Amino acid sequence: MSRNIATAAIRGAHSIVRRAEKRLQEALDTLGADHPVELPNTGYYLPVIYGITGRKVTRLADAEPVLALARELLPPLPARERWTPYLGPALDAGMATLFAEEIIEALRYVTGSSPGGIWLGAADDVILRERGIEFVDGRAPGFAAVVGAAPDTATAVKLAREMQQKNLYVFMAGRTDGASFAEQLAAADVQLGWPTRLVPFGEEVYAHIFSLGFATRVALSFGGVSPGDYHRVLMYNKDRVFAFVLALGPVTDEWYATAAGAINFGFPVIADTDIPQILPYGVCTYEHVVSGVPHDRIVARAVEVRGLKVAAAELEVPVAFGPAFEGEIIRRPDTFVEIGAGRAPAFEFLVTRPMSEVEDGRVQVVGPELDNLGEGGILPLGLVVEVAGRKMKEEFEPVLERRLHYFVNYLEGVVHIGQRDIVRIRISKKAFAAGLRLRHIGEAVANRVKAEFGSLVDKVQVTLYSMPDLVLTEQETARAQYRRRDERLGSLTDEAVDTFYTCSLCQSFAPAHICVVTPERLGLCGAVNWLDARASYELKQTGPNQPVAIGTCIDEVRGQFSGVNSAMERYTQGKITALNLYSMMENPMTSCGCFEAIAAVLPEANGIFIVNREYSGDTPIGMRFSTLAGMVGGGEQTPGFMGLARAYILSRRFIQADGGLPRVVWMPRQLKEYLRAGLLRRGAEIGIPDLYERVADETVGTSPDDIFPFLEAKQHPALSLAPIM
Ligand code: SF4
Ligand code: ZN
Repeated sequence: MSRNIATAAIRGAHSIVRRAEKRLQEALDTLGADHPVELPNTGYYLPVIYGITGRKVTRLADAEPVLALARELLPPLPARERWTPYLGPALDAGMATLFAEEIIEALRYVTGSSPGGIWLGAADDVILRERGIEFVDGRAPGFAAVVGAAPDTATAVKLAREMQQKNLYVFMAGRTDGASFAEQLAAADVQLGWPTRLVPFGEEVYAHIFSLGFATRVALSFGGVSPGDYHRVLMYNKDRVFAFVLALGPVTDEWYATAAGAINFGFPVIADTDIPQILPYGVCTYEHVVSGVPHDRIVARAVEVRGLKVAAAELEVPVAFGPAFEGEIIRRPDTFVEIGAGRAPAFEFLVTRPMSEVEDGRVQVVGPELDNLGEGGILPLGLVVEVAGRKMKEEFEPVLERRLHYFVNYLEGVVHIGQRDIVRIRISKKAFAAGLRLRHIGEAVANRVKAEFGSLVDKVQVTLYSMPDLVLTEQETARAQYRRRDERLGSLTDEAVDTFYTCSLCQSFAPAHICVVTPERLGLCGAVNWLDARASYELKQTGPNQPVAIGTCIDEVRGQFSGVNSAMERYTQGKITALNLYSMMENPMTSCGCFEAIAAVLPEANGIFIVNREYSGDTPIGMRFSTLAGMVGGGEQTPGFMGLARAYILSRRFIQADGGLPRVVWMPRQLKEYLRAGLLRRGAEIGIPDLYERVADETVGTSPDDIFPFLEAKQHPALSLAPIM
C-alpha cells in the first residue's frame, strides 16, 4: 500500500494554511491590523512571499491577502486517495504551504515566541551577504534541508560530517518522535552555527521556510532577480543553488506539503523511509523524490540526484577536511597542543626549488611528533613547503604561501591563525585522540597545493620542523626571504601605478572585510603586498585579488580615490562607501583578524601607540592586544583604531593624514627592535633622526602617567603636532 504523495501534500497544505489563518486571526484580534510584522534585520520583508509575489508584508493586515492567495492556490481536498500522474496540484499546494509557513514563523517574532536555545531562526541580511555569496562563487555548492532526526546520534554526526565535507550547508528543522537532527548533533558536542555550516533553524518543519527564504534572497540579491518574478526566482535556484531535502524518519502530511514547496524550487527530496518515488518530468531532469535510501548512501545519493560537482580530495587523514572547518573555534580547555602563539617560534614558508631537489608527495617531520608531547604542551614549528614546476615563478611564492593558512584550517580540530613568522596553531584533544599528527598537516598542505595550483606546481614536498634549534635556523632563512619580498617593491610608489588591488582572502573569517593593497600599503597581515596581489590576479582572474582602477583623486592627503570608493561599495554591498588609505582617524581601512599589529589613539599624548601581536602585556590604554583585537576586527570601520602590517609603519604613506610616523609615542620594545633599522632610516628622512629613541616602550611604562614625562623630556614630536582629535 503506497500513499499518494500528491494527496498527502494537499492534505498537509490544508492543515498548515488553516493553522496560519488561525494564528493570524489571533494576532489581529489582540494586536490590531497595523501591528508591524518583520523578520530580524532584513530588507526583503517576508522573503519567500516577497520574492514570489512581490508583496511586502509589513503589517498584520498585509498578511491577510497573502493567506487568501494561499487558500486560492490550495487544490480541493480529495475525497479519497487517488493517483494523479502529474505533480501540478501538489506544487500549488506546496507554494500555498510556503506562504502559510512564512506567516506562521514571522508571527513568532510578533508574539515574542521566536526561536531560542540552539535554534537560530531567520538569517538576517548580514548573514545573507556573508554566506549567500558562497553559493554564488562556488565555495559552497548548496545546502541540505534536513527534516526530522537520524535513528541515533552517531548516524546524525556521520551524516553531518559527510555533508560538511562536501562543503554543503546543513539547514535543520522539524522533529521525528520528539527528536531532532540538530539536538542530536548538539548532544554529541558538534559545533553548530553558521561558521560550521550546521544551521538549526527551528523545532518545527515550518522553520524550513528560512531555508527557502535564504534561497530566495540569494536569487534576489546575487542573481539580480526582481521581486515578484517568481519564474526567475525558482529557475535561479533550480539552476544555481544545489539544494535538496533530506527527510529522516516517517514523512508526515505536513512534511509532504513542505517538500512540495521545495520541489517548486527544484530541490528534490531524498528520504530514508519508503515513500513513493516521483520520477523526472517536465523541465526537471532528475527525480523529485527518492526514497528508502540507507543512511550510509543517502548523502552520496542526494549529491548524485542533484548533480553536485564536489571535488573529492583524495586525502587520507583521520579527521574531516574541507572549507566547512575554517570557521571552527577551539577553546583552550579543548586544546591538546598549541603551536607558536608567541610562546614558541612558529613560521611558514613556501619556496621554489629545482625539480631534482623535490620529491613529490614527501612529508617529513623533523623533531618530536605530537605523541612525544603531553597535553597542554607548547610546540615550536617550521612549516616549510618546497615546490617545483616549470611554470612556477618566484613571485607566486607568497601567493601560495598565504594559502597555507586556509589549507591547515581545513582540518577538523585544527585552527590556524597568522602568517609568515607569526603563526599560531591549535590542535584539539579530539583531533589528537582521532589520530591526527603533525604529519597529517603536511599531507593536507601537500594535497591542497597540488589540487589548487596544479597548473604551476608539478612537485611538492613538506617538512615540519619541531626541534627548537632547527626551527630557529630555518626561520632565519625564511625571514631573509620575507625581507627580500618586501624589498622587491623597492621604490614603487602609489602615484606610479594606476591600479591597486583588493584582497578578499579573509572573508571566510571576516565576511565584510576587504584589504586594499597599494605599493605603499601592504595588506594588514603583512603577507600580501602589491606585487603579490598582482601575481595572484595573474594566476587566477577570479581569485581573491581584484584590480581596482584608482580613478580620480578625491583627497590626496587622506588617500581617497573614486575608484577605491566604488570598489569598496561594490565589494561590501554598500556597507562602506568611502575609504581613506592614509588615515586611521577618518574612514579608515577595516580589519579582519590577521593584522600583525594594532594602532590606537592615545589622546593624552596627542599621538598613537602601536602594539604587535606577540606582546601580551598591557598597553597605555589598559587593554591588551587580545582585547584591542576584538574591538578592531570584524570588517567594521573603527576610527581611531586600526589593524596593520608592521612594514606599513615604515611606509611614507603611514597615516600621513594624521601626522604620520611622528605620531607614534609608544611601542613594545620587541616591535621597536624589529623595526629598528627602518625607524632610523625613516627618522632621518623626515628630519627626526633620533625618533627611535623618543618613542616610549613598556620599560618606560604602560600608562599615560608613566610615559608622559618621558615624552616631554624627549620632546617627542607628537606633543607639538596639531590635535589628533
Ligand atoms: Fe588579504 Fe588582507 Fe587577509 Fe592579508 S589580511 S590575506 S591582505 S584580506
Ligand atoms: Zn585576515
